Amino acid sequence: SAEVVLVGRSNVGKSTLMRELTGHTFDTGQRPGVTRQPNHYDWNAEDFVLTDLPGFGFMKGVPDEVREEIKDDIVAYLETHAEQILVAVLVVDGKAVIDIIDRHSGPDEIPHDVEMFHFLRDMGIPVVVAVNKMDKVDDRDERLDALCDRLGLLPPWKQWQETIAPITAKRGSIDPMTEAVRHHLHEQQRDDL
Ligand code: GDP
Repeated sequence: SAEVVLVGRSNVGKSTLMRELTGHTFDTGQRPGVTRQPNHYDWNAEDFVLTDLPGFGFMKGVPDEVREEIKDDIVAYLETHAEQILVAVLVVDGKAVIDIIDRHSGPDEIPHDVEMFHFLRDMGIPVVVAVNKMDKVDDRDERLDALCDRLGLLPPWKQWQETIAPITAKRGSIDPMTEAVRHHLHEQQRDDL
């Protein structure tokens, strides 16, 4: 059935966001790398399955090979299910994401978040970037403009509200994300008519 998938580095707040969306309790702050399998849940407010994919990227205590395997599994899942995935939510940590992207940008290196963003779009899956932990961000507009820039979206970010959704999952303030997701769901239903 139709799916909305959640992807993101570990520790960005994916479990916290899942809890908000589904009402289930998840182990937040659990040992990174533990969630290895895709998990499926009903999204309370919508008639879709929410799929939580394992966190990717650096995880303390997780060897490089395992990290690579996790990423390969995520990519394989997305490729296999691309047809039924209506929207992907890429969760990032608003406080850390720019530093992480800039640290990993170079001639031979594409940061995971940037790579995932383009990979999903190349597969024709609309992406909503849920920029989490905005409660820790002071220079909100600057930070979100910088993120647009790193993702190849022309700032200002306010022009991209269907793509860039600042949230604070911990406090349950996630409306920009749910609205952006609904926007894409409705677009696709209209296309199907
Ligand atoms: P996951 O590894 O992506 O599933 O991340 P978790 O949901 O386990 O969250 C990782 C850490 O970030 C936990 O300590 C959460 O309490 C914290 N966290 C999650 N959402 C927010 C948020 O909106 N603001 C702040 N300040 N912390 C958050």
